[in-house]
Parts: sequence; structure tokens; C-alpha cells
Amino acid sequence: MRTLEKSDVCDPRVEYVKTPRTGDELLRLDLNENVLGCSPKVIEALKQVKPTDVSVYPDTSVFRTELAQFLGVEDGNILMTNGADEAIRYIMDQFLKPGDEVVMAEPTFSMYPVFCSQLKVEIRSVNYNDDLSFPTEALIGAITPRTKMIVLVSPNNPTGTSIELPDLRRICEATDAKVLLDEAYFEFGEIDAMDVLADYRNLVLVRTFSKVYGLAGLRLGYMIADRSIISSIEQVSAPYNVNNLAVIAARAALSDQKFTTDYVQMIQQNRDYLAEKLPVKTYPSQANFLVADMGEYRVEIWNGLRERGILVRDLASFKLLGNCIRIGVGTKEMCDTVVGAIEQITGGCQ
Ligand SMILES: *Cc1c(COP(=O)(O)O)cnc(C)c1O
Repeated sequence: MRTLEKSDVCDPRVEYVKTPRTGDELLRLDLNENVLGCSPKVIEALKQVKPTDVSVYPDTSVFRTELAQFLGVEDGNILMTNGADEAIRYIMDQFLKPGDEVVMAEPTFSMYPVFCSQLKVEIRSVNYNDDLSFPTEALIGAITPRTKMIVLVSPNNPTGTSIELPDLRRICEATDAKVLLDEAYFEFGEIDAMDVLADYRNLVLVRTFSKVYGLAGLRLGYMIADRSIISSIEQVSAPYNVNNLAVIAARAALSDQKFTTDYVQMIQQNRDYLAEKLPVKTYPSQANFLVADMGEYRVEIWNGLRERGILVRDLASFKLLGNCIRIGVGTKEMCDTVVGAIEQITGGCQ
């Protein structure tokens, strides 16, 4: 195991921890990536890349049609972006101006407060319930006439909990504001907001190829919404924001649904396994990670795991999660490694 340099010590408040990735020695369970990499079909497709795939400006139209067919919508309902992060930024840029109000439930994905502060929009936040279930009543109660957008993340990062479709419907019906629903992890859960999308002209879904498909390094996300929303965002989006290699990889990834369904099944099984094996309280999760309450041992466990080359996310800076860490669910072997290390660390402190 390589020794950690002082410069590696990360600020646990930052979502995208910039720990140098110098090899396979570190077990990274901190960024919710695909622990098996990606479908072998993706690598095969990338090996076939031709010079013109690199030399010409990207064209996403063919893949857009394929993705639309896969999702059962029209081409005009989709816009592809450079990662889901860019989709979020486009949506916020287009529909918010300084002084507007955005309603969200906290804790949530740390890029939302970052984007809001960049755009000088005001956040009206309500807290998740103590059991980390979604606070539907409180959120609806927080909407005012100045609210221009509601931000929802389901399954939520970092809580892992989902919003039920009847609650999503109530929120969409409670406001004319845009409802941005971030579904970066929906494949790992049981709820698919596509089932209600056609009923709401104010709802925008944001999705990504980074998590279940394992293409985080290539940056491909997309949004799905009513045509009017997509065309208004198209007017402000960069024409060549998505690159050819990402499209080649995503087409291959989408063609290998067996890899995806097997991966989801493995994560769901190991999520239960990890929750059962961990010697601490965990919360129910619909994502590819678990929130574990480490009580007074949080710092010791986080550091102890780090010393053993296992990275997990410290959630101390998040509301309601002061004693918690977020652990990515991996293979059974990875789960055993992290559980064994935690037992060793806590055994050592008792
Ligand atoms: C990882 C993540 C994203 C970003 O996905 P990219 O496509 O890699 O930009 C967006 N939202 C949530 C909630 C995430 O956890």
C-alpha cells in the first residue's frame, strides 16, 4: 500500500475530492463510481475509433435519436450535456436570475449550493426528516410566489433516500416554478420519474452516464423534459459540448443492457449485505452507497480507513449527518474489506 502524502489529505467538504489517482492501491468508495469500470463493449468500441472521430466536430444527432427511442420519448425531449453537472448548470442559467428563489431539501448534492451562489440566487431550504425520508409537506410549504425553481434529487446524494412518485406529482402540481429532478442514481432504486414526466410541463429530469454506466471520465449527461424547456435551453447551450468519444462509449454502454442490469443487481444485493455486516446504524438506501452513523468514532474511522487505503466520504459538514460517513457499495469482497477495517479500527478503540 502506498503511503499517503500530506498533500493527499483532502477537504472532506468538497464533493469532487482531488486525490491524485496514481494506481489501483486505493479502494475508492468515496465518489459513487462504478466499481467494475464499464462494459467491455465500451472499451472495444473505443479501440475502433477512427481519425475522423477525433478530427471532426462532434455530431450527437444519431445517438440522440437512439437514446430517445430507448427512453420512449421524442428527440426534441432530450438535450445531451457534458456530464449531468452541465445539464444542471444550463437549467439554472436559463431559468434563474440573481435574486430569484430556489427551494430544496437539505442535505443534498453539494453542487447545488455552489451553482446557486454563483448565480446569486437565494436558497430556501427545508430539512430532510430525521429518518432521512423526503419532507414533502415542508417542501411544499416553503414555496413562495418568488420561487422560480424546486431542486429535487432522487435517490438523493448523500442520504440515499428517494421521493415517491405521488409526492413528486404533488410538488409539480403545487407550483408553476420549474422542478429540476436529479436522477443520477435512479437505476439503483425502484422509482422512475419517466412514468410521470409527460404529465408535467414544468418538470426536468437530469441523468448521467457517470454512475451505473461507468463513464464518469468521459462526461456525458442529459436532460429530459417538455419540448419547450429543451428548446429554450438549446438556445443557450454550446453547440459542441458533448464529444465524439463520449458518444461512441455511451452507444456501446447502452447496447450492453446485460452489464447494466447485472451491475444493478450486484449493487442492490451488496447494499443489503453491507448494511447487515456494518457494526453501526445505516439508513435505507436506493443508491449505490450507504450512509453509516459512526457516532463518536467518525473521525477515527475515516482516518483509519484512509490509512488502510480505503477512501469514503465524510459527511460531517452536511445537515443531519454530522456523525455519518458515506460508503460506496462495491463488490462483496470490497464490502468485506471495508467492514473488516472498520471492525479493526473500532476494536482498537474500545
Ligand atoms: C454524480 C452526481 C452528478 C454528476 O454527474 P456527472 O454526470 O458526472 O456530472 C449529478 N448529481 C448527483 C446527485 C450526483 O451524485
